[in-house]
Amino acid sequence: QSDEKTLLVTGGAGFIGSAVVRELLSNSPHRVVNLDCLTYAGNLASIPTGLHGERYCFERVDLNDAAATANVVLKHRPDAILHLAAESHVDRSIDGPGAFVQTNIVGTFNLLQAALTLFQSMSPAAQTEFRFHHVSTDEVYGDLVGTTDLFTETTPYAPSSPYSASKAASDHLVRAWGRTYGLPTLVTNCSNNYGPYHFPEKLIPHVILNALQGKPLPVYGQGLQIRDWLYVADHARALIQVLLRGHPGETYNIGGHNEKTNIAVVESICDLLQERVPNRPAGVRQFRDLITFVADRPGHDARYAIDAGKIERELGWRPEESFDSGLSKTVDWYLTDEDWWQDVLSGDYQLNRIGGAGA
Ligand code: NAD
Repeated sequence: QSDEKTLLVTGGAGFIGSAVVRELLSNSPHRVVNLDCLTYAGNLASIPTGLHGERYCFERVDLNDAAATANVVLKHRPDAILHLAAESHVDRSIDGPGAFVQTNIVGTFNLLQAALTLFQSMSPAAQTEFRFHHVSTDEVYGDLVGTTDLFTETTPYAPSSPYSASKAASDHLVRAWGRTYGLPTLVTNCSNNYGPYHFPEKLIPHVILNALQGKPLPVYGQGLQIRDWLYVADHARALIQVLLRGHPGETYNIGGHNEKTNIAVVESICDLLQERVPNRPAGVRQFRDLITFVADRPGHDARYAIDAGKIERELGWRPEESFDSGLSKTVDWYLTDEDWWQDVLSGDYQLNRIGGAGA
């Protein structure tokens, strides 16, 4: 495991992908090729320039372009591929499902074909080491209504949203390329992530940044939906463990044992801000007063909760952060690293991109 590999990470400019890239460049000897087309969710500022160097390379490629995807894969000939690039926001998938079908399903197909061409051109020794690791979500399992059950690796798929349906389809494609063509595949299904560099449309950063601006904090329905939260750096470490040590053909569930209702999450953020922000926005005495209940999202799943026993037993991975410690670090990061999110809120983060603005 100490030998230097070339790892191709797709979606490395996104929230979780950038955490993986930061972890690999900081704490491993491996080379990283970051393949990303920089949608609105991609932000190269999430990989601090201090980490760039000879071991890091960025390739601006759209997975929907099969030829460009194959070119980059065959140019770098990675020892393993970690596939995170996706359209990832459930609300956007309800308003515009087409991009989700395109990138999450067709894009994954294009990457699988490129990986298979590479795999078939490798020596038998290199083939034994090669891995295609597909990063997915626990939302493929549907929801756990009125039960105390947990999702396991054998829970049947029952996705509810266009997002989770497109992820479910891509999981099936990846497993089929394993069974049919012998590509050494790995699939991980993870619960909700949170942490630094999270795009502000997602619940936790949205609440932090709205609160800091004195804006309402929208909570769907009564806020009673339950999610299992995992700190993003813990997910990044789990993904690297699975990539380097997981058994081909296997699926691993990843979760934080942190089941919280959405309203409890929002209240915890308000309480942390109440402690840490002495200069409140005009007219705000208590951050909790900003909480506003809004109409529920269609098809909203009631509860997700994951059994991460297999990855803990087989690979020895465990989350390092509790929800309280992770949330506290997250709030502190948004209070400190204001430049990152100010550029995102203003749209400036799209200006200094390789290949031009506003892609
Ligand atoms: P994100 O939206 O923050 O990042 C996605 C990245 O993929 C962006 O950098 C974007 O530019 C890139 N991308 C999108 N379409 C592309 C295309 N066609 N070609 C090349 N690059 C493209 O997403 P995230 O939250 O970091 O999630 C990463 C992966 O993890 C996704 O596959 C998601 O389904 C999965 N996942 C996310 C969570 C979560 O809580 N965020 C939980 C479990 C699994």
